[in-house]
Amino acid sequence: MINIPKGTKDTLPQDSYKWQYVESTAREIASLFRLNEIRTPTFEHTELFQRGVGDTTDIVTKEMYTFKDKGDRSITLKPEGTAGAARSFIENGMQNGVLPVKMYYITPAFRYERPQAGRLREFHQFGVEVFGAASAQTDAETIAMADTLLKKLGLHIKLYINSIGCPTCRAAYNKALKDFFAPKLNELCHDCKTRYEKNPLRLLDCKEEGCKAINKNAPSILDYLCEDCHAHFEEVKACLDLAGIGYEIDPRIVRGLDYYTRTVFEFVSTSIGAQGTVCAGGRYDGLIEELGGNSVPAVGFAAGIERLLIVMEQTGVEIPAPVMPKVYIAGMDAECRKKAFELAIALRKRGVAVEIDHMDRSIKAQFKYADKIGAEYVAVIGGNELAEGVMNAKRMADGTSEKVAFANAVEYFASK
Ligand code: ATP
Ligand code: MG
Repeated sequence: MINIPKGTKDTLPQDSYKWQYVESTAREIASLFRLNEIRTPTFEHTELFQRGVGDTTDIVTKEMYTFKDKGDRSITLKPEGTAGAARSFIENGMQNGVLPVKMYYITPAFRYERPQAGRLREFHQFGVEVFGAASAQTDAETIAMADTLLKKLGLHIKLYINSIGCPTCRAAYNKALKDFFAPKLNELCHDCKTRYEKNPLRLLDCKEEGCKAINKNAPSILDYLCEDCHAHFEEVKACLDLAGIGYEIDPRIVRGLDYYTRTVFEFVSTSIGAQGTVCAGGRYDGLIEELGGNSVPAVGFAAGIERLLIVMEQTGVEIPAPVMPKVYIAGMDAECRKKAFELAIALRKRGVAVEIDHMDRSIKAQFKYADKIGAEYVAVIGGNELAEGVMNAKRMADGTSEKVAFANAVEYFASK
């Protein structure tokens, strides 16, 4: 017996309607905000993520699925969706076209992490990228899109926002952080000692309890924002107020990725413990240039579909049930089943969902099965019916039945 790899999950046929509901809702919201879908490869050159995600991040230092292909190229399974979208944006000349370019994706992502509830090695994201617009209103619209999706899914999740400034304000802030952490270096975890050297901002992102306790008293980035970044953040807040979207400012949010500038945000649920961040994003004005493109501002977010589904389940959101068969056509014997088969083909051509027997079951057992799969009608063909050219259609909800001629069956069920 070969088992599923650790940290991965099957979505079983009886559960996939839940995924489809979340995905179709996401597509609906994306189209409402005028975004088109982008699809990029599942794997990219490793260097794309080293540069685009950043080589001081946990993702790049510890979590990537990287391997050599048979042509000796270093390949990595995408750990997130932004880097590939940004590569495609540059490679396909979109930076020289009409801006902004607004896109979304639904993609698997791969990270070698310690699997827990809501933390997998293969997971799925709905992500959004808006390239080319620097205005605070674009940040607010992007947040509004996430907010609209969450509410449409029946979720009321708290929004936290912050600004991490630009490279100018970051220099002063990094110095303040280093001054703050220097006397406490010995109390920090191993990773944080490296972060201290390479990227002090990332110290605030540590998930170790000991480090988190120390971080509480760290200086706030908001006290170090330059005039432009401060004004930008004020405007983001004003736009969120206009949109009626509530938020809390959390100066500890820095996000895991290196390319973020200015606005960062997270929607955090309290109902799934430590893995509470269902949606996270922000502005990354440095990314396109970092990847060899022009200087193009960008803002986006990614929502974890598994985490959305967990929160929906835990908060009792009702997901609309999948399409049930309109009619189950039961056949008494081989000849009757042949007729059932023929009618089923004709009905499906007219868009009627039909099920028939595939197991040579008795009529009684077929009824039981039809009931189990939620068929609205069960139409029985026995020897007499076959001779008469009719079937006996029973409406399962109230037990009423009607004789329906084979010749009228398509019209009859198509109009029900
Ligand atoms: P976390 O802090 O929980 O590790 P992150 O900062 O690494 O999250 P992002 O890279 O911003 O997460 O990814 C966006 C979203 O994707 C997250 O908010 C979460 O919903 C989801 N996500 C990230 N990693 C995983 C994972 N290993 N399993 C399931 N969902 C994930
Ligand atoms: Mg992570």
